[in-house]
Amino acid sequence: MTKRKKTPPPSCASCEIITPKRICFSSNGTGSKGCPTLLKEKTLSEAEKEYENPRTREFARQASIQEGECYANRHQRPYVLQPTKTRVVEICEFAQRMGYKRLGLAFCLGLVKEAGVVEEIFKAQGFEVVSVLCKAGGVPKKTIGVRDKEQIYQGMDETMCNPIYQAKVLNKAKAEFNILLGLCVGHDSLFFKYAKAPTTVLAVKDRVTGHNPLAAIYLSNSYYRKITLPPANQYNSQGQNYFSIRKTTHVSPI
Ligand code: SF4
Repeated sequence: MTKRKKTPPPSCASCEIITPKRICFSSNGTGSKGCPTLLKEKTLSEAEKEYENPRTREFARQASIQEGECYANRHQRPYVLQPTKTRVVEICEFAQRMGYKRLGLAFCLGLVKEAGVVEEIFKAQGFEVVSVLCKAGGVPKKTIGVRDKEQIYQGMDETMCNPIYQAKVLNKAKAEFNILLGLCVGHDSLFFKYAKAPTTVLAVKDRVTGHNPLAAIYLSNSYYRKITLPPANQYNSQGQNYFSIRKTTHVSPI
């Protein structure tokens, strides 16, 4: 029996082809190992079929138009990208395009002040806002099997984040478009799973970087290089950290 050749997994993140020469960017371009544009015809046609649903098609069309509208002076040649719109503006404009009147705001306790400002902005832009905090419902963490030593504040009842409840509250309130503000990793996943209306994200939580997770990525070749090492390799048995034990081609930021 002949063994079927295994297709390499899609690996766009490690594609070595420069953007203008990629098959996904230019029809006479080429693809890298595992290229999903070249190797996943059936999946691609399944995805294309989804866009035949008029509601999905319209949503995708408006999202694409909004994407274009985020750049100024597109008539200029040669064109150099001139982005002009912040994420919050993009959300408002997209919601207006889609004709949404009622927005659902699901936010984290850690961003309670920001949520108030966001609500004011959405209202000023003509939307009705329904909102729900992550701790709403007041269910203790122990209900889902979290032990005392696994809580943030030990020795007391700690309220769990309840993204399923947040989603259900916004479903019942008939939010047409949900906006997430600062939900934790995993809690956001559950919200996406249980929300009936389409959901976008204004900001994700990053407790260390002021909710700017890309700061860690931008610094991963310099001050935050330890993130690129497996945890066990970050320190040797003498407790020396990776800066003193690892040879590297790193270019210092200073
Ligand atoms: S789709 Fe193909 S060409 Fe495009 S980034 Fe992925 S591997 Fe590269």
